[in-house]
Amino acid sequence: MRQVVVQWTGGIPGYGDARVDGRYAISRPGIEIVTDAGTVPQFENRSAYFLRVANSGPRFAAAYSSAQPDRAKEWTGSAWEDRGLSCGMNPVIYSAANGLVVVAKCVAPTGAQGWRYLDDATGQLVTAESTYAPKVGEPQIWEYTAWPDFRIGQGQTGVKVWSQPTGTKAFSFEALRATGQLRNIHARRVGNDVAITVVDYDQHLTTVTWATMGEILGITVPPPNPLCTRCGRPKADHLRVPLVGGGETAVCPRNVYAV
Ligand SMILES: [Zn+2]
Repeated sequence: MRQVVVQWTGGIPGYGDARVDGRYAISRPGIEIVTDAGTVPQFENRSAYFLRVANSGPRFAAAYSSAQPDRAKEWTGSAWEDRGLSCGMNPVIYSAANGLVVVAKCVAPTGAQGWRYLDDATGQLVTAESTYAPKVGEPQIWEYTAWPDFRIGQGQTGVKVWSQPTGTKAFSFEALRATGQLRNIHARRVGNDVAITVVDYDQHLTTVTWATMGEILGITVPPPNPLCTRCGRPKADHLRVPLVGGGETAVCPRNVYAV
C-alpha cells in the first residue's frame, strides 16, 4: 500500500483524482495543482472544483468558478484549454469511448449532480444522482463507485466499502479513523489494483491510496474510542494505574478531583 497526502487551506476543498498507474492530481485551492509529474498552476490562480484525471495520459479537467458561470477547463499537459460552460456538481469526467472530457450542464441525464464514475464493465458513465443514496437491500454506502464484487463510498462518517466476500466496513485512509468529513471519494480499479482518492474536510487533507484489493479488504478497523460517562473525555485519555494483584484500571479525573 502506498499513499500520497496533500494538505490544503481555505474554504474550497482540495479536490483530487488518481489512476491505478500512479497518475494523480490534487488541487491546493488558489495555489497550484500537485501531480505525480510536478506542480501545475491553477487556471488564473483560482481554485479547481471537482477535478478529474483522464483515463490515460497527462490530462486532467476541473470546473472553475468566478463571478461568471462555471467553465470546464482541461490541462493538456502543457496548457489550460477551455471546454465550455459547465454546471453543478461533478461536472467533468472522461469518456471511455474516445478519452475526451464530457461536461455536465445541469440537464438530463445528469441534472445538477453531474457524473460519479466510469463503469468499467459497460464503459458507460454513471450519474452521481443514481449513486447518491443506496437502494433498499443494498449496502448502506452513499455517493458510491461500484463493481459487481466491490463498492466504495461514504458511510455515515468515514469511508465505507462493501465486498462480495467480506460485507461492509467503514474506515478512513488518513489515519484509519472511522469518523470524519470524508467526501469526494473517487476510486479507479484495474484488476486487483485500486487507486482511491479521499478529501478530508476536517483535517484539510486529500489522500490517494494505491493498494491491492486484498490490502484494502484487510484493513482492520480500530474500535471506537469510548467516551467516559462521568467526565465526557475519551477513556483512553484517563490516567492508568496498576491494580493490586495485577492488571490496571483507568482513573477518571472526576473521581480524583472533587466534582
Ligand atoms: Zn472520566
